[in-house]
Amino acid sequence: MSKIILAGANHAGTAAANTILDNHKDNSLVIFDSNSNISYLGCGTALWIGRQIDNPEGLFYASKESFEKKGAVVHMETEVKRIDFDKKTVSAADKSGREITESYDKLIIATGSLPITPKIPGLDLPNVEFVKLFQNGQQINNILDKREIQSVAVVGAGYIGVELAEAVRRRGKNALLFETADTCLSTYYDDWFTRGMDKVLADNGIILHFNELVEEITGNGKVEGIKTNKGLYQVDMVIMAIGFRPNAALGNGVLETFTNGAYKVNLKQETNLPGVYAIGDCATVYSNAVQSTSYIALATNAVRSGIIAGHNAAGPVAGTALESAGVQGSNGICIFNYKMVSTGLNIKAAEKAGFIPSYTEFEDLQKPAFITENNHKVKLRIVYDKNTRRVLGAQMASYQDISMGIHMFSLAIEEKCTIDKLKLLDIFFLPHFNQPYNYITMAALSAV
Ligand SMILES: Cc1cc2nc3c(=O)[nH]c(=O)nc-3n(C[C@H](O)[C@H](O)[C@H](O)COP(=O)(O)OP(=O)(O)OC[C@H]3O[C@@H](n4cnc5c(N)ncnc54)[C@H](O)[C@@H]3O)c2cc1C
Repeated sequence: MSKIILAGANHAGTAAANTILDNHKDNSLVIFDSNSNISYLGCGTALWIGRQIDNPEGLFYASKESFEKKGAVVHMETEVKRIDFDKKTVSAADKSGREITESYDKLIIATGSLPITPKIPGLDLPNVEFVKLFQNGQQINNILDKREIQSVAVVGAGYIGVELAEAVRRRGKNALLFETADTCLSTYYDDWFTRGMDKVLADNGIILHFNELVEEITGNGKVEGIKTNKGLYQVDMVIMAIGFRPNAALGNGVLETFTNGAYKVNLKQETNLPGVYAIGDCATVYSNAVQSTSYIALATNAVRSGIIAGHNAAGPVAGTALESAGVQGSNGICIFNYKMVSTGLNIKAAEKAGFIPSYTEFEDLQKPAFITENNHKVKLRIVYDKNTRRVLGAQMASYQDISMGIHMFSLAIEEKCTIDKLKLLDIFFLPHFNQPYNYITMAALSAV
């Protein structure tokens, strides 16, 4: 039996806590979280703000009470301030300033990530908001309720910025989307896809300011404008969404870190100190596409890493430590009903990782042309390594729900399949679903 301390109880921490409490009841668990709520699904923020769901109530799936019922000691609104890795103690302070020090046998750090804050003037003006916590969502929602808020700048055209720009439009406000790259979503998708999404955004009234660097937020007592390297625009609110950085200060030079500061962990989620685990956005992942350590901040990775660390900290099942299978960074986005999904590396990312990438692609209707209802075009690109022909990534886009298709490519990357392996793969055909010569087969067959 071990005494386990968990620092941070959002998605990664919740998964670790439930794993320990449900499967390893002989351990004791003490949880600290600096926030007042647990398990907020940030992915629902844009749906809530954009009025696609009625309210945020369904965006939580765990609570202090649910952990306590299973036997954990939970300290909410209590921030871990210091960890003494030699003495194996954690010191925290609650909101009244009271210090709590607890010893541990095993420690799981799940302190997540923090929004990147650029060093520009005006960030502290009222009506400048970041997007991370439930409380941020509440703030944005309330500000957008005000009639005087007419024009909103969203800074950053990654998936969160794009989703928030859509939500702002759905609230009937002008949305200006600023991005230093020349297109949206360029981390995960090639131009062939991002240009399609750029068009969807523009067709739905979002004003795109690509190739523009935000230099200042202007205003006197509140936001009045946003200044870039190309001009000054009048706006009433600014939503900052330029990315996240790992929140890994507690390691304090004792725990080894990756190039971006995330805790370096092995496949067991263990840091360089035995018995100290790091999970979720504050830790590295193993990328099967690149075949090395990487950093991909996603809730899906957070949950899986939490399950692994929970089992391993509590005492490995049947004496064998659980290991991560690695990740592909599979992701999806749906904007004004246009859907894009991807896994692994796009061409730019593959080049950056040192591969010589090739790609093959195909575009077709999802179902035979004689199906005239709910039958949309789908485009697919598969990226593979020119030398080994190993599949490195795949991207798909359509108004059709094609999301399930990408999971097959995720497994192909994990299993190190070559593009040739997909050429004659058994893919069933039924007109209700797909075509006999479907786009996966057609793309794979045409790979040179
Ligand atoms: C708007 C938005 C939309 C997203 N959409 C998706 C999506 O669609 N799909 C997807 O896979 N991912 C999505 N993500 C990413 C996903 O939310 C994160 O990857 C996930 O939250 C990581 O979980 P985590 O538990 O590791 O970290 P976090 O969610 O950052 O949680 C860290 C926890 O640690 C606590 N904490 C921090 N420091 C301390 C301390 N010193 N002491 C005590 N407690 C501390 C915090 O209060 C927090 O509860 C989205 C993120 C955002 C912001």
